[in-house]
Amino acid sequence: MKAIFDADANYAVRAGGHSGMKGWNNVDGGVLISFSAMTAVSYDPSRDTITLEPGIVWADAVEGLQSQGVAAVGARFNDVGTGFLLGGGISFLSPSQGYGADNNVELDVVLVNGTLVTATVDNEYADLFKALKGGANRFGIVTRFEVRAVHTGTADDKSWFGGLITYPPSSHGALLSATAHFAHNSTDPNAVLLSSYNNVANSIVGNAYMFYNGTIAQFNRTFAEFLSIPQSTSSLGPMSYIDIDNILASSTDESGHLQLMAGTALEGKAAGEDIDSWLQTYDLWNNYSTTFADQLTFGVLAISPVPQPQILAGRQKGGNAMNPPLKGFANLMFQIALPIADSDLSDEMISAREDYLQRSLQTDIFAPHLRAPTDAGFPINMNEHDVTQDAFETYGELELLKSTYAKYDPTGFNLAHTDGPFGLG
Ligand SMILES: Cc1cc2nc3c(=O)[nH]c(=O)nc-3n(C[C@H](O)[C@H](O)[C@H](O)COP(=O)(O)OP(=O)(O)OC[C@H]3O[C@@H](n4cnc5c(N)ncnc54)[C@H](O)[C@@H]3O)c2cc1C
Repeated sequence: MKAIFDADANYAVRAGGHSGMKGWNNVDGGVLISFSAMTAVSYDPSRDTITLEPGIVWADAVEGLQSQGVAAVGARFNDVGTGFLLGGGISFLSPSQGYGADNNVELDVVLVNGTLVTATVDNEYADLFKALKGGANRFGIVTRFEVRAVHTGTADDKSWFGGLITYPPSSHGALLSATAHFAHNSTDPNAVLLSSYNNVANSIVGNAYMFYNGTIAQFNRTFAEFLSIPQSTSSLGPMSYIDIDNILASSTDESGHLQLMAGTALEGKAAGEDIDSWLQTYDLWNNYSTTFADQLTFGVLAISPVPQPQILAGRQKGGNAMNPPLKGFANLMFQIALPIADSDLSDEMISAREDYLQRSLQTDIFAPHLRAPTDAGFPINMNEHDVTQDAFETYGELELLKSTYAKYDPTGFNLAHTDGPFGLG
């Protein structure tokens, strides 16, 4: 990094290589720092922490530790890497543990001028430590993550109950309502939900991945609204955390895909309140994925509730850059995947995505609703947005991020020489 700094060169950093943000983990005519050879993971029982080298992907981090009964708070898809932690990170363990990054204990960080520092919640680099909980690739290169261990049990410990229920199109509105209600109501750190709608070749399926760290009776009570909706398939049962972690496996096959995302945030809704903003988002996604179904491998609308206990857990662990208000909300991700060979989107597909993202409207694909709503005051998910979106602007700690960035990179070298989120300059 010192050589890059001195040479005034462009650069990029790559860990798992899974980012949907085009340009962030690669560089044309510059230096790419790849962590593909740094993939170690270990558990230290005396500190009750896990140390991750940045090149590991979550499947290997979970597999490497499962015999010791511990796991780090990591991504829900197995092939995602540790860049997840720099963007905040929404995990199946988040309702009880906070964002992935809330569980950072000690980080080795190479600053932009090549200086290596170790940041913790209460040492002289505490500001940097907090900025790295959501600050993405703007604050330095993390070469070692020491994170809290969660005692999730081994593959034989079936202490959870849950699984996947799929829903036919006639139930999609009800699934959306139940999800909005869960985001608003859930105060139970043991309850975990991920809802999604998947369009593959114009066959649209609604999914609710639901897990409860407890008994079947507690599961049934917590997810009663979801259980009452007419279903297509149901596969529920006792599960270990390892089973849960494997439920989504890899996101695409090995031929590789271009994946693009767009992120919004909506406040949860109490029963009886209208869910118009949620329905509008669903309609927009539905229009897009149906219109372009022939070109897409798949189109997904994934809805990740961020319930109150997740927000509280983050605050109790020192706070993060997102710093959401203490109100249940959800991050909604509109995702498309195309085969690598077809990765040049047509002009119409690009314009329609831009319309969704509230740019000046160029198509009528989204009429009559036109653009995706997002509720002010709630952070969008840095890990699941689009390069044109200003995620930092939605963060609760934008001013802290700006001052911390100016302190550690006074010449603005990182902003000038590597692609990543904007809004700090
Ligand atoms: C299908 C799919 C499923 C996903 N599921 C989830 C999910 O469940 N929850 C969630 O929160 N997110 C999820 N994500 C988003 C994912 O967390 C982010 O894309 C994340 O940035 C990927 O990390 P990576 O290491 O694989 O990626 P990379 O592309 O290698 O890195 C991502 C970014 O972080 C930077 N970076 C990586 N490592 C370092 C480092 N050590 N120091 C400094 N900068 C670094 C890179 O420069 C790049 O800007 C998903 C993404 C996809 C495509």
